[in-house]
Amino acid sequence: MTTAIELAYLFATGLFVLSLHWMGDPKTARRGVHAGMLAMLVAVLATWAKPEVSHHSDFVRHAWVIIPIGLAIWPGIWLSLVPITAVPQRTALSHAFGGLAAGLVGTAEYFHLLSANPAALTPFMMTAIVAEIILGYLTFTGSIIAAAKLQEVKWIPQRPWVYPGQNVVNLIALGVAIVLGALLIFNPNAGWAPYAFCGVIFLALNFGWMLVMPIGGADMPTVIAILNSYAGLSAVAMGFVLDNKLLITAGALDGSSGLILSIIMCKAMNRSFANVLFGAFGQVQQKAAGGEQKAYKPETPEGAGQILEQASSVVIVPGYGLAVAQAQHKVRELYDQLKKRGITVRFAIHPVAGRMPGHMNVLLAEAEIPYDDLVEMEEINSDMPQCDVCIVLGANDVVNPAARFDKTSPIYGMPIIDADRARTVFAVKRSKNPGFAGIDNDLYFLDKTFMLFGDAKAVVGELVKALSPSAGH
Ligand code: NDP
Repeated sequence: MTTAIELAYLFATGLFVLSLHWMGDPKTARRGVHAGMLAMLVAVLATWAKPEVSHHSDFVRHAWVIIPIGLAIWPGIWLSLVPITAVPQRTALSHAFGGLAAGLVGTAEYFHLLSANPAALTPFMMTAIVAEIILGYLTFTGSIIAAAKLQEVKWIPQRPWVYPGQNVVNLIALGVAIVLGALLIFNPNAGWAPYAFCGVIFLALNFGWMLVMPIGGADMPTVIAILNSYAGLSAVAMGFVLDNKLLITAGALDGSSGLILSIIMCKAMNRSFANVLFGAFGQVQQKAAGGEQKAYKPETPEGAGQILEQASSVVIVPGYGLAVAQAQHKVRELYDQLKKRGITVRFAIHPVAGRMPGHMNVLLAEAEIPYDDLVEMEEINSDMPQCDVCIVLGANDVVNPAARFDKTSPIYGMPIIDADRARTVFAVKRSKNPGFAGIDNDLYFLDKTFMLFGDAKAVVGELVKALSPSAGH
């Protein structure tokens, strides 16, 4: 039986690795998700079969597995049904639960061993338990705040919540938790140890929310990726505590993928880790948003349709507004109409367009737009001067030229899609409001730019109508 369980663990580990590999490409992403689901199912069943988890004849022990799974399925299903625009906060909630589970397992294991087998609380075991509870509990409260900010709930300010000396206070809280944890590692059985243990939990819980409160809403997806890596590391520590190799490898995969994702996001926004975590990004923006009023040039879908018909190369830059409007299927119709006329149509994909990496790829894949027409930012930018019409579809920050030249802009240095280098630009958005970074966009005021105000789905629908043969063009 033990060999079968070890083999099942090995199989699940291999599937987890393949799952991540397949998820790196839109063509194989679905297979990656299925492989991850199968790996998790195998992992749960193999762990359930372990003799120390459930003796086969002991019904009460099985009940301790069945009842929690039966209860946990429902919030899981509820979380899986959220709209795609809410996926970042859904992910944050998953991390919160993962962190809480790790923290609770570490707490239970410490108090269980303290009474049942104190000799097992070796310095190695205590190091793993302390790491598990600090990372687990801080991930829990940090992720709850991150989810609340992304959901824009009223009781949490979107803008960074800052006060003088905040970083010092936060670092002191973490420092005291680490010192108490270090004392516990060498004195796990001392009379004061259980109190110190609870002190570490209290400090870790507080450090989590205090770490995330000063970070602005626009940086939350990056924070989620960082919290993802903390949750993974706490799972690694839990694997050492429970002597479970699968948990160690799965946690390491989770932790490293979270770290890599946050590095990719920081690079795409030209920000450093320190700047995301301690930069209070989002404060300057309020001031910058209230600048002078410039004039927009509105255009009608019919007028835009006529210009599109004359184009030979069209680039569509999708952004967060595409996800809000759920306009992907209408966009597919527009793509088909343009292709019918022999026009080259490509989609320019910015790595942080939308609210999570891959957001646009997922939406466009849903509408079955060929992957070959989705072009990465670096590749499409050199072609932008030859582009006849660029349609900026619910994108804002990722096409803001201020990132290139305005040193005072909060997004200065962020690589952008050079929509402003196209011959004509149509910008689709509902209002004159700024994008996520909260700043004006000079692209909209260029001579070559025309605004198509309205919901992206409705406007693209009008464009399709204007281009369809029955419209008489
Ligand atoms: P933005 O948030 O900058 O702009 C989205 C635009 O869409 C807004 O100007 C809004 O204008 C418009 N919009 C919203 N709803 C609709 C609708 N129904 N129909 C038409 N337009 C709509 O999005 P971008 O994708 O350009 O940029 C992403 C931002 O998120 C960047 O600042 C990036 O740094 C940040 N970010 C992204 C991460 C990621 O991983 N993707 C990670 C971290 C941060 P209006 O309200 O007038 O309609």
